[in-house]
Amino acid sequence: MNDRMIISLPISPYDKMSVGRMTTPILGESISKSMNCKFIMAINVLNSYKNKNYSGFINLMNNYNINPNQYWIDNQHVKEMMNQIYILNEMGYICEKEKKIVRCTCGKVEISKDNISTINLKDSLFGIKNDEYYCKFCKSKCVIGNEKVLVFDSKLVDKTNMKFYPDFINKDKTTFDKTVGNNDVVISRNRSTGIIINYKGHKYNLDIDFLWQNYLSLFKEKERIVMCGNHQLYQLYMVGMLEQCFNNNNNTIYLATPYLEQSKDEYALNNRAMSLKVFSLLILKWAKKENTFDKSLLNYINSMNIDKKQMLYDIIIEKIDTTENIIDDLKYVLTKKYNFQNANKELKRRRRNV
Ligand SMILES: [Zn+2]
Repeated sequence: MNDRMIISLPISPYDKMSVGRMTTPILGESISKSMNCKFIMAINVLNSYKNKNYSGFINLMNNYNINPNQYWIDNQHVKEMMNQIYILNEMGYICEKEKKIVRCTCGKVEISKDNISTINLKDSLFGIKNDEYYCKFCKSKCVIGNEKVLVFDSKLVDKTNMKFYPDFINKDKTTFDKTVGNNDVVISRNRSTGIIINYKGHKYNLDIDFLWQNYLSLFKEKERIVMCGNHQLYQLYMVGMLEQCFNNNNNTIYLATPYLEQSKDEYALNNRAMSLKVFSLLILKWAKKENTFDKSLLNYINSMNIDKKQMLYDIIIEKIDTTENIIDDLKYVLTKKYNFQNANKELKRRRRNV
């Protein structure tokens, strides 16, 4: 193995198969095999108050024969990540400011007025109706007040070295550079988060997301692929900015999987580990932001006998001759190796020669 790793953003554990969700673990494992590097599956349980159990997730991975080199569980590294927060503070990225904070009565909405334009309203509990702010959870109208908060100053981060793949994500990067990347990110919370940071004698509750978003700084490998699903681009961007604070000499690629349309047909892959892997690797077209569910590919894979399917899978994940350039290697693997025409052609050639 080399000085490379592929690591997931910390994933919230789930325990049922779905093609969309399992794309990240399957791709992570396969890319690590193709590129002969370590695969670390990071799991996020810090955000969950009630369910810190991830055994169902690990069982699911075992059932589908997905075997990372390491499971990295965020709540086992709180102390190390807190250290990094204090280092960030010493480096001058964190400071105290008075900000206009928008908040609801239940506490779920707590945002800086400056950041409202950066919020994805579809995925947020925060809403705007008739020019008024409200909470979708408690339905109350939000109030705005001046408060002292801790902020992370994104403007100080050098973002030139942040490389994203697929290429269309660089459009999102440009947008983020102008919004979150050009603003203060409020990182303290009024409610108790269980994580206290002492800032010049004043105690603040630290936002849990901001804590785990520092996790990359705990790893030694110099060349990294950090991957996530397509709905986590904001988190990926934050993780990227924080990595740049600690070390912008690392050669890191931030990879987000394209969107794959959901389909009832995916249940035909239930309990079919090999079919699910082959299907997930071949279905995605990396030049497209949205991919349709290709039922004929599914039927074709399901119709293969197990030996043929195994042979196809082995061809797809065959180790490549890696180069000095991790992004070229990754592009080659995703577009040339995980490619139905190429893999199927090679399968036919080898079966003729048996
Ligand atoms: Zn609320």
